[in-house]
Amino acid sequence: MRGSFACPRRFMNILTRRDLLRTAGVLGGGAALAYLFPPSIARAYALLQQAPDPVAAAAAARAGTAKIPIDVTKLTDTITMLSGPGGNVVVLNGPDGKVVVDTFVQGAFAPLQQRLDAMGNTPIVSVVNTHWHFDHADNNESFRSVNAAVIAHQNTTKRLSETRDLLGMRFLPAPKGALPTQTFDQLHNLSVNGDLVHLGYVPPAHTDTDITVYFTDGEVLHMGDLFFNGMYPFIDASTGGNINGMIAAADGALKLANVAMTIKIVPGHGPLADRGALTKYRDMLVTVRDRIAKLKKAGRTEKEVVASKPTADLDATWGKGFMMPDVFVGIVYNTL
Ligand SMILES: [Zn+2]
Repeated sequence: MRGSFACPRRFMNILTRRDLLRTAGVLGGGAALAYLFPPSIARAYALLQQAPDPVAAAAAARAGTAKIPIDVTKLTDTITMLSGPGGNVVVLNGPDGKVVVDTFVQGAFAPLQQRLDAMGNTPIVSVVNTHWHFDHADNNESFRSVNAAVIAHQNTTKRLSETRDLLGMRFLPAPKGALPTQTFDQLHNLSVNGDLVHLGYVPPAHTDTDITVYFTDGEVLHMGDLFFNGMYPFIDASTGGNINGMIAAADGALKLANVAMTIKIVPGHGPLADRGALTKYRDMLVTVRDRIAKLKKAGRTEKEVVASKPTADLDATWGKGFMMPDVFVGIVYNTL
């Protein structure tokens, strides 16, 4: 298994489908994929093994993820979190209409729309993409077709317009109708339903397209995939992601969290969090980074570092979710 991740250059381009299939062959069945994705999504991704090519693999991933049911969590009188078929979605609803942050995957638009309709018949005025990944930005076209503006960082448009390989899947350039309608460089504010919503660019961390979304009145912060609550995060080095950026992003969010009274923090994946959960995650990132940086500086190869199990004491807590420890160690090594 380690051999699949031993070549830094290859890993920097993120796992090729061949790596994924080879790894699957070694580990057998869904186990290979379970370390990349949470159990429910891992089942969906097991379909990748039968997919004839990377484009079909992306379609299979979408179809499998779309079947996951939507959970609803009310955060404030006006703000709701939806979880399930993709990254966590946050909705601000009020007389001016709805603002929706992230969109789930294609195929989950109908159940998402049903949930939005159940909140009231106000229009969807704006949709925000926290970053370019398909499990967050996949329904832009459907939202545009109901006249919502789609707001994102300018790099999201760039990444969605390219052919991109990710975790054995190939994403072809999005049609023009699925691109953001409004983009920004550093900051963008929305004033809706008496709440001021701050959209802020974060230097490359999970990708080079990441933004955070802060609802100032409700004190709700959506961090997208800068935060995987309770598990090692995926970092997409193929579009600029790196461990130091992830730590800087967590530090930035904690600065905000420390001055808010009752902050609720929505991760890209995992349960709703508070300041304490984000602090633990940030401290874990720093510990892992420091240990691996020390070994790399001492001249150890990636293979040696992975074999030395530098996260052994942390794995019981953090290694049971999205990423298997060996894979996470490889990513951190290669982005230092
Ligand atoms: Zn992501």
